[in-house]
Amino acid sequence: MALPVPRSVRILLLLLAVASPALFLGRRAAADEGEWLPEQIAGLDFTALQARGLELGPDDLWNGEEGLLSAAVQINGCSASFVSPEGLIVTNHHCGFAAINAASTLERNYLEDGFVAADREAEIPAQGYSVSFVRRYDDVTAEVHAAMEAAGDDPAARWKAVQAERRRLEQEVQGPFESAIVVPYFEGREWRRIVRTVLRDVRLVYAPPRDVGEYGGETDNWMWPRHTGDFTFFRAYVAPDGSPADYAPDNVPFRPAHWLRVSEDGVEEGDLVMVMGYPGRTNRYMTSVAVAVREAVYYPLRLEVFTAMIRFLEEDTADDPERRLRIESLLKGLANAQKNAEGMIWGLARNGVVDRKLREEAEIRAWVAADAGRRQRYDGVLDRVLALDTEEAARMERDFLLDQFRYRSGAFRRMLSAPDDESAARVAMSAVDHRILELLAGLARELPETQRLEAFDAWDAEHGDGERGPEAWAELARSLAPAYRELQDFRDRLAGLRLEVGPKWISLQEEWRGERFYPDANSTLRLSIATVKGYQPRDGVWHLPFTTVAGMLEKDRGEGEFDVPDEVRAAAEARPGARDIRVCFLADADTTGGNSGSPVVDGRGRLVGLNFDRVFENVAGDFGWNPERSRNISVDVRFPLWLMREVWPAPHLLEEMGLPTR
Ligand code: ASP
Repeated sequence: MALPVPRSVRILLLLLAVASPALFLGRRAAADEGEWLPEQIAGLDFTALQARGLELGPDDLWNGEEGLLSAAVQINGCSASFVSPEGLIVTNHHCGFAAINAASTLERNYLEDGFVAADREAEIPAQGYSVSFVRRYDDVTAEVHAAMEAAGDDPAARWKAVQAERRRLEQEVQGPFESAIVVPYFEGREWRRIVRTVLRDVRLVYAPPRDVGEYGGETDNWMWPRHTGDFTFFRAYVAPDGSPADYAPDNVPFRPAHWLRVSEDGVEEGDLVMVMGYPGRTNRYMTSVAVAVREAVYYPLRLEVFTAMIRFLEEDTADDPERRLRIESLLKGLANAQKNAEGMIWGLARNGVVDRKLREEAEIRAWVAADAGRRQRYDGVLDRVLALDTEEAARMERDFLLDQFRYRSGAFRRMLSAPDDESAARVAMSAVDHRILELLAGLARELPETQRLEAFDAWDAEHGDGERGPEAWAELARSLAPAYRELQDFRDRLAGLRLEVGPKWISLQEEWRGERFYPDANSTLRLSIATVKGYQPRDGVWHLPFTTVAGMLEKDRGEGEFDVPDEVRAAAEARPGARDIRVCFLADADTTGGNSGSPVVDGRGRLVGLNFDRVFENVAGDFGWNPERSRNISVDVRFPLWLMREVWPAPHLLEEMGLPTR
């Protein structure tokens, strides 16, 4: 079946089909590619790893039930680690940002001034935060596949049956210490039930001022060289009997079975390091069509919407510092996503990802055709995946807009779920709601012929001129309801079809690549093995892998995003050698969003850094790891420790981590 692919994507694919193969990246995974599952660790080449400096054996990392990886926890969308037997946790400042923001007022502004809890009493509940860690994995592949088969042939019904089975398997293990999530690996070829402990009483312990924790702001975000002290400490609490509990004053610090020892020995270029954390989402096995539509349609639209959204929010709060403070965290998230979209558009083009995918697909076709066994296993698999991707691409703009209407405007979302017209029209709308909805309406007006939203067009014809008040938007919400239902049905059907062909597509690639093979990131615990190293961002430039306090001071402009606090400058100048303290380092770990806050450990498993970002050239690394430019950025732990000794002292925390206080 021929489906209409958006014109922009057709052009891109056409151009690339005839383009030179200049940027072909090769198909073999290089040494440090891979976000390994705990269960895959035993299968890694430990002889080679030990030759590179690893002093631990597979069982030390993960023995099937526990290991060093057990110290890595998930905190909201980020990663973190236990660093003391008393439940002390370290993550990134940007991961703690929402909690610091929520605890701040204009008078007591912890974002601006930082926060040091003098003792346990002074630790502040982190609203909306929870910490979870893995207790056990159950292989539930057979159960999920059986539920799918029992649902018959209808793809949507199969998808729904899988969802229901996931919920059932999750509920089976609910208890005070345990909660479970059921997740697919390899597009549903395998399923695991991850039994976790979730701790809900999390308290803020130590945060540097924003001028350190976010030094360089959006200018330096996703960039190297970097001088950001992106760290924050929390502590997890439990009920006096040790069970997870909501915040209560008499809760006690949680005592983890595993925590990391902090090392002040540092790392040097060429050293092996390991990143343990919860990477959110990668798309390493996508087809050319799926990548092309993201490059040509999805990320440009995201960029446009996020850029406008930031402007609306900033303008709306320009004269009101109190309201502005309340949206700092929201703004930061939008700005991060905005720059991520820029990096994706730039990186997908520069890395020639679609070009590489097209070449790989041609190779795969030839490889399948060349062997009877392969033909039997994989004939038509690539075409079926491409057909699904084409179907999705053909309506990407339209579906993106439908999503944005409900994601970007809380009022519109409430209207969509209001029981009747009258209640929908009574939904309160802010000035920002109005502006964002007008922006989206403008984009809906420009949808290509093949993707029109008829209900929108009819509504627009009627309400095209003049002010559109809540009644008009409520009417739009009501008339779009069938489009949302159709979108859900479409997605259920596609998800069901992907459950069928996705695992085959993965097996095909695994066999074709002929190497150790890791599943795409899915917010579950992974290990990435890396080397500390610099890189070449562009012709004639080499980036060294370390930055120092001296470099931080050099960037200081005394205002805005580069405003080194006086206390830091004074401490740097007070002691010889302080200027040489390392602030950040680069390595080639395989990381993505969600890896923020991940502990970075040395060959002996000791904490040497906190992952917090990637370089701009690696934003598009989600679609393919590359030895030349896949670099992650970490804070060197010695920088936070210096601040905790000499700038905003916290001797009690240093002691707790078993470190000297001076
Ligand atoms: N900065 C990212 C995050 O917030 C990390 C990354 O994407 O590399 O998770």
